[in-house]
Order: sequence, then structure tokens, then C-alpha cells
Amino acid sequence: MAIKFKSTRGDKTLITASQAIVKGISDDGGLYVPCFIPKIDFKLEKILEMSYKELAYEVLKLIISDFSEEELKYCIDNAYDKKFDTDLIAPLKEAAGEYFLELFHGKTLAFKDIALSILPYLLKTAARKNGVSEEIVILTATSGDTGKAALEGFADVEGTKIIVFFPEKGVSPVQKMQMVTQTGNNTCVVGIKGNFDDAQTAVKQIFTDKSLNLELKDKGYVFSSANSINIGRLAPQIVYYFYAYAQMVKNNSINFGDKINFTVPTGNFGDILAGYYAKEMGLPVDKLICASNDNKVLYDFFKTGTYNTNREFLVTASPSMDILISSNLERLLYHISGNSETTKNLMDDLAKNKKYKFTVSESYIVGEYAAEAESFDGIKEVYEKSGYVMDTHTAVAYASYKKYKKEFNDNTKNVIISTASPYKFAKDVCRAIDLKYDGIDPFEAIGILSGIWKEKIPAPIDGINSRAISHKNVIEKDDIKNFIKDYLEHA
Ligand SMILES: *Cc1c(COP(=O)(O)O)cnc(C)c1O
Repeated sequence: MAIKFKSTRGDKTLITASQAIVKGISDDGGLYVPCFIPKIDFKLEKILEMSYKELAYEVLKLIISDFSEEELKYCIDNAYDKKFDTDLIAPLKEAAGEYFLELFHGKTLAFKDIALSILPYLLKTAARKNGVSEEIVILTATSGDTGKAALEGFADVEGTKIIVFFPEKGVSPVQKMQMVTQTGNNTCVVGIKGNFDDAQTAVKQIFTDKSLNLELKDKGYVFSSANSINIGRLAPQIVYYFYAYAQMVKNNSINFGDKINFTVPTGNFGDILAGYYAKEMGLPVDKLICASNDNKVLYDFFKTGTYNTNREFLVTASPSMDILISSNLERLLYHISGNSETTKNLMDDLAKNKKYKFTVSESYIVGEYAAEAESFDGIKEVYEKSGYVMDTHTAVAYASYKKYKKEFNDNTKNVIISTASPYKFAKDVCRAIDLKYDGIDPFEAIGILSGIWKEKIPAPIDGINSRAISHKNVIEKDDIKNFIKDYLEHA
């Protein structure tokens, strides 16, 4: 039986997974959630024998359950292929006594590739199933990595256009270069004078702007989202939690059936929410540790029960986590409270007063954070102990986990979700390892890092600085809507 989806904010309309993927966000502003989180319908031991693709099929069929076997396998086969530089897709590495699940082996060197390699196929299939004939316009707000991964996923995909908004001053030089050199006739990249929250809020408003949506439908366009507010983004991320567990058993780090912890570097709360789904589906997970950087709104929330965005927005060396309004937290609130009225009230409070109160038990999520200096020390420590190099986001998770372990005296085996290649943040990584690299050119840093680390420079960023810049738009944050209208008029 196909599982139905509904809004977190009370709209009672039930829709299928494929409809939720096309729509992205509910008309009432809520996010789509499954009416219940399904349990796995196979023996957990089976994951020990499955390839990434086989596992992806077994997990995704439970959530995206109105796709036929053929449709789903088509999407999976086209997503997890040679775009990744390892057949394992998500290899587990051990270094300095810790376990790292490397999710950065795709085309844009960040974990967003795992979901955004498959999303275009899910979306096109979902559109076809539902008789959507309009051209699909993907609107994406990015804190740095989603934008590029979405552009790579959707570039030249027939029947789609993609527009990406990024905070002009809030992404790393390499991230920016990756985006503004994007090729593909259906791609558009725009810098905004504002931060990620400004971009995400503006984009969410556009999805629920009825008159704009009608106007564009007349012109043959429908909007959808490549952000983790789209359930089609979230579902593929559940897979690698199972895959990590299987690798922990296979390398004899745990016995089958043992519970493990995951520490997840968190921004928009999509990645860790997928971990929560994996646990609810039946994976033996004990603690999910939510690691924040200096923008520690989530840490404060889990510790105190007050979510308060009324604070300074800090630009850090882990820009993909520089977020104060973590969209997917809304889904967790819904699942925990079991109540869309509560969820709606909390979200209304957030919109009006920039804060709300709600207590989440540590049996669901434990909040931790690492300040910039703590993460940098972590990079140096792991490198000196083992020669392994972490990126700045993974380092936030590593340093947070160290603090957690000390505070809770918990010796349960833990997997750190490693979300980006250090090459993507080479300048800060080099500086963390040796202060003499302070102030080096961010592109030169890539070459320097290849001298420090034994892994070779990944092809997608090798020579990136000499590629042609094809996107030069920079706009005010209040002009996003007009920009979109204008762009589609002339497209
Ligand atoms: C997006 C991103 C994160 C945060 O993931 P969320 O799902 O937004 O919590 C962490 N690290 C990197 C490198 C990212 O690109």
C-alpha cells in the first residue's frame, strides 16, 4: 500500500510521494511528512550483503512507495553510477580512532550529491506519473553546497530550469567558483546581498505565493524545490545510515545488532533528520548527536527548549552550516508532538517573535557544538595522529563529538558523518594544520593541500580557477521575486 503524505501544519489533504516530490512544499507553508514512518520490511541482516544501489532500492521503496519497481530502479541506476569516484558511493574510513562516513565522492565533493544525483530522476518520473506537462522550475536557496549539487543534477535535464540563489558574501571562494562557472542552458545562478536565511525565506514565500504560481502556470511553468524541504531530497539520505551500519559490522567494529551513535554536522537539519528516519525505520541507533558551529541555535534549543533566532548571524569556515532557521526541524517537531496544530503554532511563533519553546528529549537528539577554534584544533589533531584530513564541516562534528563523549562518558561506537572533501575548503584546512598558511590564496591552497594530504586533487575542482565565469548576477534580497518573473519572461 502506498504511503500518503501530509503537511506538518494541518492541511488535511493527503497526497502520494510522487505528488509531494513535484510540489516540494505544502500550500499552507508546511513541509510534507509521511503519515507514519514505515518499518523496514526485510531482515536487517540482509543489508550486510547489499550494494549501495540494492540498499537504496529497499529503503526508498518504503517511502517513495507509489513508484513502480522499474521506475525506482531506473532512478537509482542513473544516480549512483560513474558520477561517483568509488563504487561504494559512501565509504567508511577509520582514522585517529574514529569512523568517518565519507559522503563527498560525488561530482561536487559534498554530501548533497547523494540526494541531488537522484532528485532530477525522481522529479521527472513523478511529474510524468502525475501528468504534469508544464516545465519544472527548480528554485534553490543555498548556503554553498546544495546550489552546485543541484546545478550539476539538473543541468541540461529536459523539461526543467534551475535558478540558484546564494549569499554573495556567505560561501567559500571555491564554492562560489563552482557555481558561477556552471554550464548548461537551463541554469541560472544569482548572488544575493543577504544571508542564507534571507534566501531560503524568500524562496519559501514564492512557493506559497498563489497569484505568482497561477501567473506562471499560465506561461507553462511550475515551481519545485531542490532544498531538503523536498521529501525527494530527504529520502535518499536515509540510505547511507543503513549503509554505514553495514560497514561497521563488516569491518568488525561492532557486532550485528549493537546500537551505534551518529554525529552529524548540521545546518538545515536535513541530514540528521534522515538519521532519525533511519532509526525509526528500525536501524539500531542509540544517540543522534546534532553538531552545530558557532551559529549554535540548535545546540541552545536542544539544551534549553527555546529556539531563538534573535541573534547575530556569524560567517564561519563551515559556511554550509551557517543557518539560523533550520527548516527540517519542523518535521521533527511534527513527528515528536504528533500534532500539526502544535507544529503550526510553533512556526507562527517563529515567524512573529523569532522564537518558540518546545522540549525535545535527549533520547531523540543530543545537541552539541564546536567553536571555530575547537574545530580547527580537531583538523590538526586528526591529521597529526593519522595523516587523515577532515574538511571544516566534518571537523565541527568531530570536535562536537569529543565534547559529547566527555560530557556523557558514552563509549558507544560512533560514526561521524563526513560531509565535504577538504579540498573544497582547502584554505581553512591548510591554516588549521599549520598557521604558516594563514592568508594563502584559496585556489593555491588546493595545490598546497595535495602536498599535505596523500589523496589526489579531485577532478571536479582541479583547475577550477581558470574556468570561464558564466553567471554574474548579484541582486538585493528583496528583488528575488521580480528577478524570477523577469528571467522566466525572457527565457
Ligand atoms: C549542507 C551541508 C551540511 C548541513 O547539512 P543539513 O542537511 O543542512 O543539516 C553540512 N556540511 C556540508 C558540507 C554541507 O554541504
